[in-house]
Amino acid sequence: MALPVVAVFGCARYSALRRFSLLLSLRAAYDCGMSKGPGPVSSLYVHVPFCAHKCEYCAFYSEASSGEVMNRYVAALVRELELVAPDLKPETIFFGGGTPSILSLAQWKTILAAMDRLGLLGAVEWTIECNPATVSADKARLWRDHGVNRISMGVQSLDESLLDRLGRIHSRAMVFKSFDALRAAGFDNVNVDLMFAIPGQTLEVWRATLDEAVALGSEHLSCYEVIYEEDTPLYEQMKAGEFDVDEELACAMYEELIERAAGAGFAQYEIANFARGNGVLECWSAGMQNSQDSNTPTLQHSITPSGHHSIPAFACRHNVNYWRGGSYHGLGPAAAGYVRGVRTKNWSNTRLYCEQLELGRRAVESREELPPLRRAGETAAFGLRMNTGWAFEPFRERTGFYLRLEWKTEMADLVARGWGSRDSEGFGLTRQGLRFADTAAELFLR
Ligand code: SF4
Repeated sequence: MALPVVAVFGCARYSALRRFSLLLSLRAAYDCGMSKGPGPVSSLYVHVPFCAHKCEYCAFYSEASSGEVMNRYVAALVRELELVAPDLKPETIFFGGGTPSILSLAQWKTILAAMDRLGLLGAVEWTIECNPATVSADKARLWRDHGVNRISMGVQSLDESLLDRLGRIHSRAMVFKSFDALRAAGFDNVNVDLMFAIPGQTLEVWRATLDEAVALGSEHLSCYEVIYEEDTPLYEQMKAGEFDVDEELACAMYEELIERAAGAGFAQYEIANFARGNGVLECWSAGMQNSQDSNTPTLQHSITPSGHHSIPAFACRHNVNYWRGGSYHGLGPAAAGYVRGVRTKNWSNTRLYCEQLELGRRAVESREELPPLRRAGETAAFGLRMNTGWAFEPFRERTGFYLRLEWKTEMADLVARGWGSRDSEGFGLTRQGLRFADTAAELFLR
């Protein structure tokens, strides 16, 4: 199960950022200069483009699985890993899709053996996305034995009728069974993906799902509002008037999410992402905690004993790298990457992808070098998705631009609206501002 890194969240007002996000072919493929140095890239995304069945709402590149194509894909991926390995020293790895867990044990062994041979094991954080219907104890143990230490489980709902409505192949019972299997295999960092504002979902059902999900005891929670992507069955049903989109209900669900996640001990660190753990991960962000009173945009810095600002320890490092403008290689069909100022995107066609790799070359469909100011603007916009916002000095170090000078007017505008908070060290969105994050972020694009 794959969900966009740049999330979907509580209100239709976020639609502009959604479009912006899609334009960037997210999984956020950009960088702002840090990778210009000579060192190898430290972040790797691998797209596995197979699913058992296409979900009603899904616009990600994936296709129904077939054994022969999957074997060919695995061979091509190994070839692509070989081509990229000299420029990789992964600290974070993320296998997304599609449904990575749909690959067989034998196919996983092939990929992992290649990564071992190429010196690509040992990442600090290595995530594999799983569908609860395709997790097995054998696969979980194999992954763990090779250093995979984080699982992202596409739960989406714990209501059987809504799972059916979404076209998911798993049942609620499978969620609990898979979660136990992952724990038994030694995974102590698990994310649960949920969706809200699903047609037919009431506030009561959402509350019940949230309560059951947090009771699982996962370390991380990602919650996304359903979006209606063109060319999906759900979009067609909406256009045909089969259901109404209730924006007020979606907003109420988002508020419920924030309250219940906080009540369960999760710290929100991005619009759609919540994690447990004392803050130690990020040592250079502004550390802004949004005021609970959205009309009082004061900054409350969260400073660790070392004097640094922080976000939760179980925050997804791989995604934080995207939001902070880090570089990464993207492998697999439709995968985007950004390395040393160049954004790339692989062909969204598995057969074509395989053909290119079989000829010994990368399957890159497009390459684009972004002008520095445009990159900096995108970096600013994405960073504002995080509760910590941007600290001025790290932003300058990353982009070469002064946030407080280049975007002075925009920041003043947002503070005046009550959407932004600013002090001598940095700038971030208030809780109210996060609800309008797309509009706010667009101001920073150049
Ligand atoms: S599991 Fe469903 S939502 Fe996830 S990539 Fe496959 S079809 Fe799309």
